[in-house]
Amino acid sequence: MEKVLIITGGSRGIGAATARLAAEQGYAICVNYRHDQEAAHSIVGSITQLGGRAIAVAADVALEGDVIHLFQTVDEQLGKVTALVNNAGILERQMRVEEMDAARLNRIFAANVIGSFLCAREAVKRMSTKHGGPGGAIVNVSSVASRLGSPGEYVDYAASKGAIDTLTIGLAKEVADEGIRVNAVRPGFIYTDIHASGGEPNRVERVKESVPMKRGGQAVEVAKAVLWLLSDEASYTTGSFVEVAGGK
Ligand code: NAP
Repeated sequence: MEKVLIITGGSRGIGAATARLAAEQGYAICVNYRHDQEAAHSIVGSITQLGGRAIAVAADVALEGDVIHLFQTVDEQLGKVTALVNNAGILERQMRVEEMDAARLNRIFAANVIGSFLCAREAVKRMSTKHGGPGGAIVNVSSVASRLGSPGEYVDYAASKGAIDTLTIGLAKEVADEGIRVNAVRPGFIYTDIHASGGEPNRVERVKESVPMKRGGQAVEVAKAVLWLLSDEASYTTGSFVEVAGGK
């Protein structure tokens, strides 16, 4: 049976690195993205050039209708999903909690938490042996922020990752005897464009001295942990967290 992987937010950063590595390992890939069609199509092009199977599907994971359309498109064009990486995530300009308004909090929690729940729901419907599916694996992309709290920068983002951790623990137990494993990675400071959204594109350079390994991480280092958790090598691992954070 062909392995079919949906990566939310796969058009750049950690998601794009995961898409490339997964294609090398024989997965058919759906690269989901929100706005940047050109970037998503370029990842798909690099996979298909090497003989892999990949499609790009635009969907805002915060919107239920978009998520349903995303999974239906994959059903039709690649086959039933067997692996999901809940990677799409956002943060906003660095500020203290007393400055945060409800609109911002709603955007953060909608994209990071509700998006992951909706995608997990659609994946479970297709993977669970309870629904006649073949089983599968889900990896949620959390963050070390869930246990550090990100004071003075984005406590809202950190709290959304705390919710992802709890989703991982609860869902893992809920579907453990239905053939589905659910795990998470907690990246530390990784060189991607996400830090520009916080207003500090070079944030990793500023904070890297606080990392025991004294360096930031590369997206592919996170992708390798994600791929291990998705693989049969991790067959007895569920409800677990892999830290990819240089000891932070
Ligand atoms: P990034 O470079 O900013 O990429 C984010 C990706 O998510 C883009 O492909 C973006 O697509 C997509 N996206 C954003 N909102 C979306 C939505 N509502 N629906 C669908 N796609 C959406 O981020 P990254 O650094 O690779 O981060 C990936 C994940 O790792 C996130 O969950 C992040 O919280 C987590 N993480 C990152 C770090 C780090 O240091 N980089 C550390 C810990 C955890 P468009 O460009 O089309 O909008």
